[in-house]
Amino acid sequence: MRIAMIGTGYVGLVSGACFADFGHRVTCVDKDSSKIDGLNAGVMPIWEPGLEGLVKSNAERGRLTFTTDLVSGVKDAEAVFIAVGTPARRGDGHADLTYVFEAVRELAKVIKPGTVVVTKSTVPVGTGDKIEAILREEGITEVSVASNPEFLREGAAIADFKHPDRIVVGAEDERAEHCLKEIYRPLFLNRAPILITGRRTAELTKYAANAFLAVKISFINEIADLCEAVDADVQDVARGIGLDNRIGPKFLHAGPGYGGSCFPKDTVALLQTADSVGVEQRIVATTVAVNDDRKNRMVERISRALGRDVRDKRVAILGLAFKPNTDDMREAPAIPIVNGLVKLGASVAAFDPVARHQAEPLFSGIEFADDAYAAADGADALVIVTEWDEFRALDLERVAASLRGKILIDLRNVYDRSEAEAAGLTYYGIGRGRLQTSQ
Ligand code: NAD
Repeated sequence: MRIAMIGTGYVGLVSGACFADFGHRVTCVDKDSSKIDGLNAGVMPIWEPGLEGLVKSNAERGRLTFTTDLVSGVKDAEAVFIAVGTPARRGDGHADLTYVFEAVRELAKVIKPGTVVVTKSTVPVGTGDKIEAILREEGITEVSVASNPEFLREGAAIADFKHPDRIVVGAEDERAEHCLKEIYRPLFLNRAPILITGRRTAELTKYAANAFLAVKISFINEIADLCEAVDADVQDVARGIGLDNRIGPKFLHAGPGYGGSCFPKDTVALLQTADSVGVEQRIVATTVAVNDDRKNRMVERISRALGRDVRDKRVAILGLAFKPNTDDMREAPAIPIVNGLVKLGASVAAFDPVARHQAEPLFSGIEFADDAYAAADGADALVIVTEWDEFRALDLERVAASLRGKILIDLRNVYDRSEAEAAGLTYYGIGRGRLQTSQ
C-alpha cells in the first residue's frame, strides 16, 4: 500500500520504517527540514536501537522516502497517518491539538477521495470526529477517519512495533477497517491480536493504558515508602505480588517517579477530558499528584544522605534520559534532581551514554563527564538516576576509590546493599529496609 506518515518523530519514523519493512511504500513528511535533510543523508534524528539499519535498508530499496513537501508526500497515498506531537497545552494540561489540526487542514487540500486518514498520535476522545468535520468543511465528501493509537516504548520501539501485544483500530466504516487490516496484515500472520472498536473507544483505550501503567508505578513507589518505615524490601514485595498473574511483574519497579514524553502529559490530558464531561477520576488524579511530589522529593533524599547541607558538595549523576536506551529527556526525573541540587549549591558532574546533546540545553552550570568513573572522580556521592545497562556492572571498588565521599544513592535499585558495602560504600536504595539515621 502507499502510505504517508505526517510527523517524523519517534512514532512517525519508527512506524514509517516498520511499515516500509512490511513491504508498503511509505513517505515520511516533516516540517522540520533539518530532520528531513539529515534522514536523506542517513543521519537519524533520534537514538533508538536498530532504527538506523531499518531506515537505511528500506530507503535503499526505495520503499521509504523523506520529504518536507506534504503535497507530494500525500497526494497518491491510500492511507495518511498523523503522527505529530500532542504536547500538554500550557496552563491547563489539555492535549494541544494545534499540530494535528494544522496537518489535517494541509492534507485536506491534496488527498484523493476515499483516502483513509488515521490518527496515530495520542489524541483525546472525539478528536476523530473533529478531524472528520474539518475534512468535510474542506470539501472532502468521501471521508474515512480511523484511530490507531500507538503503544510502542522508546528504547524497544522496533521490537514493540513488530511484535505488539495488540493492535487497536478504531474505525467507523468498512473502508477504514479494511485498509488498516491490510496495512497490518504481516502482523496478523504472526498472530498479533487486533482489536477493532469504535473510534472513540480506541482513542480512550490509549489514555486508559498509559494511566493504568502510571498508577502501577505510583502504587509501588508508595509501597516503597512504607517499606522504608517498616523495614521491608520493596524488591521482594514487588516480586511477591508480581508473580500473581492477575497483577503481573511489569511496571512494579520503585524509583524516582515516572517521566518521559507520554505518561505525564497523557495522565493530565485524561483528567482534563474527564473534567470536561464532569466525571471524577480520583485514582489518576492521585497518581499524578504522587508522582509530581515524588520527583521533587528526590533532591531531599540525596541531601539527607549527604548530611543535609549540599553546598560545596559534588554530586555525580549517572543517567539523564528519562529511561535507558533512549536520548529522550522529556520530563526526565533527572531534570528536577539536577536543577534542585544546583539550586541548593551543589556542583554536579553528570554522565549519560547517549542523552548528552539533548540534556545540555536543559542545564546550566553543570559538568558533563565522559564516563561513569570520570563523573565519580572526586564526588561526595554517586547517584544512579537512569538504569542504563552499563551502570549495572560498575566496578564498585573503582567507584569507591574515585569518590571523595563513599556514598552510593541508587534510585533504581540496581545494586544490592551487601555488594555496595563490600566495596566500602554506604548504600541508599529505594524502599529497601529501614532508612539509616543519616537518611
Ligand atoms: P515528536 O515530537 O518526536 O515528533 C513529532 C513530529 O511531528 C516532529 O518532528 C514535528 O516536526 C512534526 N510535525 C508537527 N507538525 C507537523 C506538520 N504539520 N507536518 C509535518 N510534520 C509535523 O513526537 P512523538 O514522540 O513521535 O509523538 C507523536 C505522537 O505519538 C504524540 O501524540 C505522542 O503522545 C504519541 N506517542 C508517542 C510515543 C513515544 O514513545 N514517543 C509512544 C506512543 C504514542
